[in-house]
Amino acid sequence: MRSTSFIQKYSPSPRVFFTSLPGPTRKRLPSPYCYRLTYCNPQPRKPGCVLLWEVYGGRQEYQVALEREPTGNLRWHCTCADAVYRGATTLHFCKHIRGLRSLDRQPLAE
Ligand SMILES: [Zn+2]
Repeated sequence: MRSTSFIQKYSPSPRVFFTSLPGPTRKRLPSPYCYRLTYCNPQPRKPGCVLLWEVYGGRQEYQVALEREPTGNLRWHCTCADAVYRGATTLHFCKHIRGLRSLDRQPLAE
């Protein structure tokens, strides 16, 4: 299952990742963003928060969480306005979540 490999890959280290995302300015120039893993549930198959990251690089500091729903599905959350207003009703992912998900497909630098 994809979620299991994702968790194994990121736990317990490395805990800090860098990536480039469209920046917070109007021009949306690529800007460096930093993700710091702050929480990793030792029982990732139980409902609740599985992983929690702090995101630096935007106008504000955000938090991205991966939640295990009671049904077993995984759900992404971000505290940014884009995710709050559009992510609640659709399958829209904000750039912070997309950036984190894209890291899963790239080799990680040591
Ligand atoms: Zn976001």
